[in-house]
Amino acid sequence: MWNSMKRSCKQKIARIRVLVFDVDGVLTDGTLFVDEEGRELKVFHTRDGLGLVLAKRAGLKVVFFSGKASPVVLQRARILGVDRVMQGIRNKGEAFERLIRSMEVSPDEVCYMGDDIIDLPCMRKAGLAVAVSDADESVRKISHWVSSKSGGRGAVRELVETVLKIQGKWDSAVERYYSDTNSESDNKGSLS
Ligand SMILES: [Mg+2]
Repeated sequence: MWNSMKRSCKQKIARIRVLVFDVDGVLTDGTLFVDEEGRELKVFHTRDGLGLVLAKRAGLKVVFFSGKASPVVLQRARILGVDRVMQGIRNKGEAFERLIRSMEVSPDEVCYMGDDIIDLPCMRKAGLAVAVSDADESVRKISHWVSSKSGGRGAVRELVETVLKIQGKWDSAVERYYSDTNSESDNKGSLS
């Protein structure tokens, strides 16, 4: 998965403290279900969810960052304990700068995962720009790394696993997850 990755890319990954995810086409496959009342439903992947829980346990911050605004995104973020949700963003580049300032991190410490042209300003500013495998060509072209999995089909999990393994945090995050779920009576496995 990442053994063939360039050394310069691994060095960028080693510095990452914040993971920022576009929602449609990254956390989902881009499909939108809209009912007759105009309410939206989105489909998320449970393995991505568990990956985000592990990222949090390893000490990374997780942000959902969407041009659209949807209550289901907020709900999903609450279940997973996502640190911050920014939705209904008109100017993603400007909002990304605001996010970095408010989280008191440098761009080098931020990874942005996106799929479409609206993400380009953020990907140009982020220390690590990652495209999902089925992203628009312009997005893949400027990315430091492209996942082998597509949006909503494990790309987020692949990124989390890659970052945590390169940072040497994966095994301990998984162990901690197991020991926590075994020591508590409630079913934390449902958290993903
Ligand atoms: Mg998108």
